[in-house]
Amino acid sequence: MANGAQTVHEVLSRQTEDEDEEEDEEDDEGKVTEDEEPRACGVCGDLAKGYHFNALTCEGCKGFFRRAIQRSTQLRCPFLNKCIITKNNRRSCQACRFHKCQAIGMRKEMVMSEKEVLERRIRIKRKRMLDAPVELLSQQKETIEELLCGHRSTFDAAFSRFSGFRPMDRVVVSVSEYNQSGREPFHPLTNCPTNSCTTNKSATDPGTSPCACSLLSSCSSSSPFSSLYGFFEKQDTQHVNDVGKNSVFTALPHLMDLTTYMIQDIISFSKSLRDFRSLTMEDQISLLKGATFEIMQIRFNMVFNINTGIWECGHITYCIDDAVRAGFQQLLLEPLLKFHHTLRKLDLQEEEYVLIQAMSLFSPDRPGVQQHSVIDELQESLALTLKTWIDCKRTDPDKHLLFPRLIACLTEMRTMTEEYSKQILQIQDIQPDDVSPLIIEVISKCPSNK
Ligand SMILES: [Zn+2]
Ligand SMILES: [Zn+2]
Repeated sequence: MANGAQTVHEVLSRQTEDEDEEEDEEDDEGKVTEDEEPRACGVCGDLAKGYHFNALTCEGCKGFFRRAIQRSTQLRCPFLNKCIITKNNRRSCQACRFHKCQAIGMRKEMVMSEKEVLERRIRIKRKRMLDAPVELLSQQKETIEELLCGHRSTFDAAFSRFSGFRPMDRVVVSVSEYNQSGREPFHPLTNCPTNSCTTNKSATDPGTSPCACSLLSSCSSSSPFSSLYGFFEKQDTQHVNDVGKNSVFTALPHLMDLTTYMIQDIISFSKSLRDFRSLTMEDQISLLKGATFEIMQIRFNMVFNINTGIWECGHITYCIDDAVRAGFQQLLLEPLLKFHHTLRKLDLQEEEYVLIQAMSLFSPDRPGVQQHSVIDELQESLALTLKTWIDCKRTDPDKHLLFPRLIACLTEMRTMTEEYSKQILQIQDIQPDDVSPLIIEVISKCPSNK
């Protein structure tokens, strides 16, 4: 075979030419002539299986034509531009083979560029992934099972184990002063400034409960704080005059008992998780300190009635004003209430609630955390489990929005955790006897030495 006039590039490209019988599926090739008689390639006479780039050709000539187009190098015939292309000699002259391709009608505009081929491959891959049924891995199922089990044994939505607490005192200080401030007259007998809560019969004066206002729509429509600004003002003057007296934040003792009760359960929940127990004691404490407030709010959200704005904790119900009477301030309570509405509106299933509790718990960036990457991986895997769960269990059309929305809720709580700690310390300054050591320990920033 005389091939003296060919360039190194031509020789090299010829060697690879027929090796890569292209596996890629181009849809621009027409119908495949399957059940028909075997047919011959219009270029070289080899067996043709279908139409490629508008002509009936073999796989070899199909690949050759595409490469020739993509390479766009000038081809030169070493002979007389009259080579007869056959199956056996088709590799000896690229120029004449290409010419023959064009002569039988192969069209270069039907060849996709390499970029298009790549894009198309990605498209196909993505489509396969989307079409494949999403399924939870067995390990993810186990994770969810463990979380559910731990959650159910440490959270009782009926609050039936919550007992022996100091009663909820919904009487507010300085009623006469409140009335003098020119606001709506306040009726001490109802005890609830916005009439938006019901009270526990066993824990309060029978004359005061329940204030059946959960049925009043006005409670949830207007800002729950609008009628409470007077209390903040009162509390401020009260600080100056009455620091040291136990009567400023009347709901505080009860709410602190409730908080202590919740914290104990959250510790038990965390301890029930294998991954949590496998961490060092120091990191366990750091994670708990960081997440307790958040998990508490996620749990409260499960009993939050979005229509009334009331937390229905079994035999007791709470409204946001109870937190006001415990000394918490708008800066925390306003976003907190908004958070509860937002999260509740997502109508989460129990599995989703436990997964976000666990994601909050395993936050690698809590102060004092040592095994950062271990915890990071745990959280990542929980996030993936949550995402997969949503993908396979949810059917609502906007389900793809749920995961980002949950992440936004978790982020939102971060800010509130900070504010909560700050306000607890302020409250403790004013009414030190009512804040339990456990709560102080949880919100304290310094790493525990236990
Ligand atoms: Zn051919
Ligand atoms: Zn030739």
